[in-house]
Amino acid sequence: MSNRDDNLTELYDKDGNLIGVLITAPLWEQIKPKLKGILPEEAPKERPEPTGDWNTLKDYWDFPYPVDTDVHCENCGNKTDDWEKDEPRKFRLTSCNLGGLVSFKCTQCQARIVKKHFKDQITVECTPYIDEKTQRKEARY
Ligand SMILES: [Zn+2]
Repeated sequence: MSNRDDNLTELYDKDGNLIGVLITAPLWEQIKPKLKGILPEEAPKERPEPTGDWNTLKDYWDFPYPVDTDVHCENCGNKTDDWEKDEPRKFRLTSCNLGGLVSFKCTQCQARIVKKHFKDQITVECTPYIDEKTQRKEARY
């Protein structure tokens, strides 16, 4: 990456007006993080974590054990002692309800981890992520 001009190509219309810039992938990877806040958020489809629901569950916690904050992904081995403190998140909270059902998405492998809180135990289910497109393709062939 000694010569930056190799990574940038200015694009002009037929009248010679600059209409845009073509950037190579390696340069784009360098620039992209610096554009945070200028460009629209990268993953707008990602819903915000329902932290309000989680706080409500904690407020009304009536299980005979303390609030558990550890999450472990069986699929890729990702784990944390306190998912809320991870920055960036190792696991994203995807849903939570007062019944004690708490779902996470592993940010490493996209697996879905569901923790179910019962009176006497906590069960954890880990479902590997399946790309919908892959699934459709497999169904077709
Ligand atoms: Zn994982």
